[in-house]
Amino acid sequence: MEKLRVVVWNEGRHEKSDALVRDIYPNGIHGTLVEALNRCADIHASSATLDESEHGLPPQRIAETDVLIWWGHQAHDAVSNEVVDRVYQRVLAGMGLIVLHSAHFSKIFKRLMGTSCDLKWRQADDREVLWVTAPGHPIVQGIDDHFILDREEMYGEHFDIPEPDETVLISWFSGGEVFRSGVTYRRGSGRIFYFRPGHETFPTYHHPLVQRIISNAVHWAKPINTAKACYGHRPTPIK
Ligand code: ZN
Repeated sequence: MEKLRVVVWNEGRHEKSDALVRDIYPNGIHGTLVEALNRCADIHASSATLDESEHGLPPQRIAETDVLIWWGHQAHDAVSNEVVDRVYQRVLAGMGLIVLHSAHFSKIFKRLMGTSCDLKWRQADDREVLWVTAPGHPIVQGIDDHFILDREEMYGEHFDIPEPDETVLISWFSGGEVFRSGVTYRRGSGRIFYFRPGHETFPTYHHPLVQRIISNAVHWAKPINTAKACYGHRPTPIK
C-alpha cells in the first residue's frame, strides 16, 4: 500500500521557551501529531520546524508531500516568503493543507484566503463545545453531534475569512461567543481545512477526537489524481 506522505510543520518556539508547553508536549506539538497520525496504517507522517534549514521544507520535500499540516503562533513573520511561495504553488498543484489554531495568522493561510483572517480571542480557560454542522462529511467521521474541550483559548466571531466552501464544525464558548472552527476551501487543485482548537498551553492535541478529526482531514485533503491544469492559447479545437 502506498502511504500518504504527511508533514507536520510546527514553529516550535513555545516548546523551547515555555516549560508548561514543554511539559504538555515533550516532543513538541509536531511530535505529538506525528505519533498520532502514524498510528494510521496508510499514513507516513514526519515533522518539520521553523529553525531547520529552509524551515525543513526544501523544494524536494514539498514536492513529495501529499498533505502539509501547519501550526504557528509567535513567529509567523520569521517564515521566509520563498518557502511560503513554494507551499502556495504546491497547494494550487494539489497538495492538501491543514491549518491549525493560531496559524489563522500564518503567511500561507492569509495568502490563500486573501483576507485579514483576524478574530476575537481570550485566554481564560473557557469551556469549548464543538458542534458538527456537516453530518456525513468525511472530516467528522466517527464524531458524535458534538464534543467538549474542558479548557481552551476562546476564538470568537467575526472571523475574517472568505465564505467557506463548507462549515463542518462550529464552536460555542462558555463566555457566549461562537466561532466557525472547522472550515474547508479549495484553491487550485488543493484542498484546505482550517481547524481551530490547539492553544499551546492546553493538552488539546492529545485529545482522541481532535486527533481523529486531523487524521480524517488528512484523508479528505489528499491530492486527487487528475490531469494537470492547462492554461493559455489552445490552437486546436476538439474534433
Ligand atoms: Zn492560542
